[in-house]
Amino acid sequence: MKCSICKTGHTRPGITTVTLERDNTVVVIREVPAEICEDCGEYYLNDEIARRVYADAEKTANRHVEVEIQRFAA
Ligand SMILES: [Zn+2]
Repeated sequence: MKCSICKTGHTRPGITTVTLERDNTVVVIREVPAEICEDCGEYYLNDEIARRVYADAEKTANRHVEVEIQRFAA
């Protein structure tokens, strides 16, 4: 698909690191499958992956940790 950030690049399937902030918690989730723009590096998650990533971040925020680095469980 065409990248909607830079408008010129095209995305390819790959693996990325997603960083999310919730209140005082920063969650870094590594090895997340995504479509990644060849030009600007922007990533796009499909609905199911996004849901799981956000659910993980929510759980971590509920434990009130400041920073957590996780690996996405495929
Ligand atoms: Zn792009």
